[in-house]
This record gives sequence, structure tokens and C-alpha cells, in this order.
Amino acid sequence: MTLIVQKYGGTSVGSIDKIRAVAKRVGDAREAGHEVIVVLSAMAGETDRLQDLGSSISARPAPEEMDVLLAAGEQASIALLAMALKDLGHPSRSYLAHQVGIRTDADHQRARIEQIDTSALRESLAAGVTPVVAGFQGIEGSSGRLTTLGRGGSDTTAVAVAAAVEAHECQICTDVDGVYTADPRIVADARRLDHVTFEEMFELASLGSKVLHPRSVEFAGKYAVPLRVLSSFAAGGGTLITVESESMEQPIVSGIAHARDEAKITMSGVPDVPGVASKILGPVGRAPIEVDMIVQNTGADGLTDFTFTVKRGDYARTLELVQPVCSELGARSVSGDDQIAKVSVVGVGMRSHAGVAMRVFDTLAAENINIQMISTSEIKISVVVAERYMELAVRALHAAFELDDPKD
Ligand code: ADP
Ligand code: ASP
Ligand code: MG
Repeated sequence: MTLIVQKYGGTSVGSIDKIRAVAKRVGDAREAGHEVIVVLSAMAGETDRLQDLGSSISARPAPEEMDVLLAAGEQASIALLAMALKDLGHPSRSYLAHQVGIRTDADHQRARIEQIDTSALRESLAAGVTPVVAGFQGIEGSSGRLTTLGRGGSDTTAVAVAAAVEAHECQICTDVDGVYTADPRIVADARRLDHVTFEEMFELASLGSKVLHPRSVEFAGKYAVPLRVLSSFAAGGGTLITVESESMEQPIVSGIAHARDEAKITMSGVPDVPGVASKILGPVGRAPIEVDMIVQNTGADGLTDFTFTVKRGDYARTLELVQPVCSELGARSVSGDDQIAKVSVVGVGMRSHAGVAMRVFDTLAAENINIQMISTSEIKISVVVAERYMELAVRALHAAFELDDPKD
């Protein structure tokens, strides 16, 4: 008997009928002779609804209480699926994070899983009872308080559970039938990938492809968990996330990622002296607000401009934090733009091929899209563009790197 972990996302459990359909799929896997641990997200839209409730009662909701609020969504979905499984004649039980011992650090709203106690899950499986585990939530070790892993985090719960129980495979069942060369909602002729390497998948996920939570990929790579993305509704092998093998023919570019929810802040006329970056970014980092790209211009007349990007949700707070630094440094002004997006081209094949960056720049120039910022690493090139050009940029780059489905 093989043990598999199946995670179903929000859309897949978005209605009573869909929850019944998931119960049927889990039941089929049981009848085919597998042991199954199910990990669930909240019903589609539920976490957003709870987040809005929190934001409407307080301008700065306490992160610890926000976690208690957001975690409620998964409590409802696991109970409903366990009921549906029982109705189909499959013994089943719901498990909240504290009942499985999913221990995390204390970083509320983006906690990291540190440990999972597998004894409750193993006992349940041994008794023939299918465990249905709440994704996205954890328990902080010393205080026992609830934590959440960041939006989209139930993928990470699934992979962490799979690693802890040494599952044969972790299946991320979702509303697309695998990982595509770009978000199929933006590029109609995007192509499904049969395989993608952990390294590329980690970049794609970190750069905005929300089909997988970045930490789930990191976890799967670290603990060698076989990870597959597949449809909750249709049959098919989906996409397997694999290690790079010598013999694998690697395309130069594997995919295009986009992140819509970005914002940039520019401090102009900053004295070009040592310590400026630390003065500007210090308060932002301590907030803690995550800074992504950073660009500092060459100084002229002893002055320079300093630009960095943050998530759009952190924009207002970041502006508040850098205003006093602007006065303190005697900088000319602070300005910002929260209507920007990041588009990234990812591929391990870039390591051995020059000219990818030029092709990106030429393609965007041909579409008359202005590049506001650029950042590169060994296997990716990211550009910041005005949000209104983001979809055009994704489609143009997808075509320029010939990623379209050859059958179309
Ligand atoms: P779930 O609720 O199942 O966790 P998500 O909405 O988090 O599902 O992730 C699935 C979505 O990810 C798809 O509907 C698709 O629009 C989006 N997506 C973004 N980039 C990609 C990609 N490269 N391949 C497949 N899906 C992608
Ligand atoms: N329900 C959570 C969210 O909407 C976790 C997840 O779906 O993975 O972000
Ligand atoms: Mg998701």
C-alpha cells in the first residue's frame, strides 16, 4: 500500500458539490489501495472574506489575532470533507494544526513549519481512518498560539506533512492540470510542462506563479519529496517537480512569471555617502516589510536617487516609514508608484546561453513597454513595468521565447 498526501485548494472545495466530488476522489484513491492523508485550503474566497473583516475592524489588525481569524476558514472545510467522506462509507477525521502537532516559529502571518509530530496521523491511518488536515495553520511552540504560513500556505502544509510521514508522493490538486509555461489565465496558448526542476519551480513560485507556494517547493527540494501538480477535476499526470538531471535536455527558458501586487518607492536627491541604504531600509526591514528590488543610481554632484520595491499592501506603511528618513537625510523628495508589476523569465538553460536578457529587452521595446527596473540572477531576468502593460509583456515574452503549445 502506498501512502500519498493529496492537497485540495480553495476552488476545488469552493462549494458543497465540489467538496462531495473531492470526497469521491479521495475515496477512489482509498479503493485503489492507497493510504491517503488529505490537506485542505479554505473554501474559495473565505480567507479573503475573513481578511476583509479583520481589516475593517482595525487599521492595523494584530497579526496574532489575524491568524486566529484567517485559520477559521480551514476549520470549516476539513469538517465538511470529513462528513462527506463518512457519507461515502470512508471512515475519516478532521485534524486542526494543534491536533497534528504542526509546530511553527512565532512569525505570525508568515510562520515557518519547524516540526510535525506524526503519531496522531499514523494512528489514524493504522485504524483505517483517513485524516483530513487543516492547511495553512500551525501552532507556535512556546506560547501555543495559532499561526498561519502566509497566503497560499496550505501547499506548504501538504509538503511538510508528506516529508514528515515519508509519503510516496505529494499531490497538489488544483484548478489547472499542471504547471504551465505562463499563467493560463493570461496566456491562452501556454503549454503544460510534464516536468519542471525544483530550482525553476522555486523561482517561478517566488516570482509570482501562485500555482505553488514558494516554501512548499523549497521544502520538497530539501526533503526530496516527490511533488506533483494536477487537476482536482480531470484525470492526467499533471506536472512532476524533479531534480535536474545531466541527461535532461533543458530549454533555455521554461516559463514566465508575473506579480501584479508590487509598488516602488523612490527617494531623490539623497546625499551620496556611506550608510544611506542602511538608513533608508533599516526602518522598513525592522517593520518588518520585505524589500524586493533595490536600485541606486550613480551619484552626480554628491547626490543620488534610491529606488526599491515592496508588496503593494505594504506601500502606504513604507511611505510613512521613509518620510522621516527623507527629512533626516536632507533628501529632496520621496515619491512612489503602486501601479507597477514584475514580469520574470525563468530557465536553468540560461546559465549556458547568453543573449536572453537582450531578447527580453528587444521584445519589450518592440511593444513600446518601458522597463522601470531590472534584476537578474543565474536563472532569471525580472523587469518592473507599469501594471497596465503587464499582460502584454507576459504574452509578448511568451511568444518571443517560443513557449506556445506547438499543437496550436
Ligand atoms: P488553489 O486554490 O488550488 O491553491 P491557486 O489559485 O492558488 O489554486 O493556484 C492555481 C492558479 O495558479 C491557477 O488557476 C492559475 O491561474 C495560476 N497560475 C499562475 N501561474 C501559473 C502557471 N505557471 N501554471 C499554472 N497555473 C498558474
Ligand atoms: N486559505 C489560505 C489562503 O487563501 C491558504 C491556501 O489557500 O493555501 O491563502
Ligand atoms: Mg494556492
